Amino acid sequence: MNSINIENNLKSLQLQYPPIFNKMDHEKYVNDWREQYVGKTYAVLRPSNTEEVSNILKFASENNITIVPQGGNTGLCGGATPDKSGNSIILSLEKMNKVLSVNAGDFDCRVQANVTRKQLNEHLRDDGVFFPIDPGADAALGGMASTSASGTMAVKYGTMRTVVSGLTVVLPSGEIVKTGTRTKKSSAGYNLTNLFIGSEGTLGVITEVHLRLSPIPESIMSAVCHFPDLETAVLTSQEVIQYGVPIARIEMLNKDQMEICINYSKLEKYKNKRE
Ligand SMILES: Cc1cc2nc3c(=O)[nH]c(=O)nc-3n(C[C@H](O)[C@H](O)[C@H](O)COP(=O)(O)OP(=O)(O)OC[C@H]3O[C@@H](n4cnc5c(N)ncnc54)[C@H](O)[C@@H]3O)c2cc1C
Repeated sequence: MNSINIENNLKSLQLQYPPIFNKMDHEKYVNDWREQYVGKTYAVLRPSNTEEVSNILKFASENNITIVPQGGNTGLCGGATPDKSGNSIILSLEKMNKVLSVNAGDFDCRVQANVTRKQLNEHLRDDGVFFPIDPGADAALGGMASTSASGTMAVKYGTMRTVVSGLTVVLPSGEIVKTGTRTKKSSAGYNLTNLFIGSEGTLGVITEVHLRLSPIPESIMSAVCHFPDLETAVLTSQEVIQYGVPIARIEMLNKDQMEICINYSKLEKYKNKRE
């Protein structure tokens, strides 16, 4: 199919938000945020619901067009950046950013793929529950599921594999698949949810995510401890867990990292105290 036909066919999908064909408007989609990866795209599509994603993937599949799903574009491996050929199409999920339902009593919620973790926690603020996985970046929850994100809270709350209870995924053929169940206690069937988690768009496009939430702790404390060597630090972390201390994050910084943090945050007073 030539490019005029592709353009006409994409327009005929009648997406709520029109395709972006103008190269000048592609810039924010074809670079990653560190500018380590730079590509080109034929067009950027911004579907607003699962059915639109399905129509796009069916068209792409029938016409052998490569699709690059893109969530928050915070990834560090270039997976959301197209190659330099300019033949692929970016499927940005940016318009799919609605919280669909929250069941605070049941500790779960359902969101469209591009709700970010900060957006979700802002939404949950008055419900006494929160979403605990924190990979550092304000990534989209569909992107986090597709990369199997974890982060510093993994010690207590696990990873995306622990908290995703179900997914809505569009397969390359356009078929819509729903996986998982809201109930924690279930042994039925294949674990399709886990198959899609970490697949980075190679098996399909995640359009909705069902998540388990956690109660907000009544009190939170933090502490900085100094250790004379690596071995003592590691043994202490092991003991903290062995004694059942309800710890959520443990991060270790070596001397060089501490120096950099102290200099960056201008904590000279603290530096003097250490010396
Ligand atoms: C400062 C920083 C610190 C980080 N620390 C950690 C950490 O400690 N632990 C950790 O696990 N990660 C960490 N990360 C990586 C982080 O997990 C990823 O950036 C994030 O999960 C990607 O989500 P995204 O929505 O930005 O996806 P994108 O960057 O847009 O995409 C990432 C990949 O997923 C695919 N994809 C995106 N959305 C979908 C979808 N809806 N369906 C199918 N495929 C999709 C893309 O094609 C691409 O291959 C860190 C990132 C940053 C910037």
